[in-house]
Amino acid sequence: MKILVVNSGSSSLKYQLFDMVGETVLAKGLVERIGSQGSVLTHQADGRKEKMDFESPNHEAALRKVFDVLTASGTGVLKDIKEIDAVGHRVVHAGEKYASSVRITPEVVAALEECSELAPLHNPPGITGIRAITKLLPEVPQVGVFDTAFHQTMPKEAYIYPIPYEYYERHKIRRYGFHGTSHRYVSMRAAEMLGKPIANLKLITCHLGNGSSIAAVDGGRSVDTSMGFTPLAGIPMGTRSGDLDPAIVTFMAEKDGVTAEHVVQKILNKQSGVLGVSGLSNDFRDLEEAAEAGNESAALALTIFANGLRKYIAAYAAIMNGVDAIIFTAGIGENSKEMRSRVCEGLKFFGVAIDEEKNNCRGIERDISMPGSKVRVLIVPTNEELVIARDTRAIVFS
Ligand code: ADP
Repeated sequence: MKILVVNSGSSSLKYQLFDMVGETVLAKGLVERIGSQGSVLTHQADGRKEKMDFESPNHEAALRKVFDVLTASGTGVLKDIKEIDAVGHRVVHAGEKYASSVRITPEVVAALEECSELAPLHNPPGITGIRAITKLLPEVPQVGVFDTAFHQTMPKEAYIYPIPYEYYERHKIRRYGFHGTSHRYVSMRAAEMLGKPIANLKLITCHLGNGSSIAAVDGGRSVDTSMGFTPLAGIPMGTRSGDLDPAIVTFMAEKDGVTAEHVVQKILNKQSGVLGVSGLSNDFRDLEEAAEAGNESAALALTIFANGLRKYIAAYAAIMNGVDAIIFTAGIGENSKEMRSRVCEGLKFFGVAIDEEKNNCRGIERDISMPGSKVRVLIVPTNEELVIARDTRAIVFS
């Protein structure tokens, strides 16, 4: 059984083709600059990586090119595109409509379109990807896997904002949370690594990438998470501010004669976070190098990030009245031993003790806690594509 996983962005498209017998990746790649002149396809299969320039005015054209490469005579991993049994899509926002993955039907597409109001930048590309596959592979079943779904188990006290309640009723303003597929995957893997049923575990999962979010996972259910109505909330990120006093928005807008929308979309989403504080980079590798060389702004940005993370971890331990394990994942969580070390150092007071030798690693699954640590600390590389492929198989073929 072969499943294609598609993750459509506004001008990009990532894909992975799985052979579900053994859950192996047959091919994967990325199309960039869709809709601009000169799109680029980077394709990997059979241990080879190729880059191809082509024209791709839209996602359908991008997928056509991907299909050509997948079936190319001699080098393709498929003889015929008909070998694809199902397609799974990453879609960002399903609002309150779906608490788990679903088979795509015209009704589901309509429901997701309604949710686009809540995620105007992130949802339309996912829907575009679904439409393109519907056109190119009309007979092939499709499944939608949503970033918000895992967090639909949050209790009301976690998702209702302390603003007039009518805003929730009239406009659905509430905490939704994102990165749900990743938080779900790493919490399941953590339970397997700890050898305990997930139902008995209190976990704090830290997805630290370009966007970062923390989740409190109690008994396998998300009970709180740091991102909110949009992915702008929570800890500071690469270019996003994370939590701040909302009065800053109108103050900045008045002072500089710009709109509140400009402040939120441009300044707080794209020019803030560790990039904004350091004035240097949103990439933690650059910041760690600069801080090491004595750059104070880079050091300050990293400290603000580490403290933000530590505050959320402590808060979620309080929310769950305990924590069995802290899990680090995504680009920074999997790769930065410095950040893991700093955060854990500041959590010694509630029984976190890591072994620095075990922590000295990158991108591998590992328990890095000291044998006696009250709270276990795990690195779990995330694999959202695999979850999407598994959900697709489960929904289409069971
Ligand atoms: P995305 O959210 O786009 O999926 P990733 O999860 O791939 O992002 O994370 C990307 C980020 O991970 C980079 O911006 C960088 O800050 C960080 N990162 C990657 N490798 C390292 C490393 N070796 N040390 C520190 N940070 C790293």
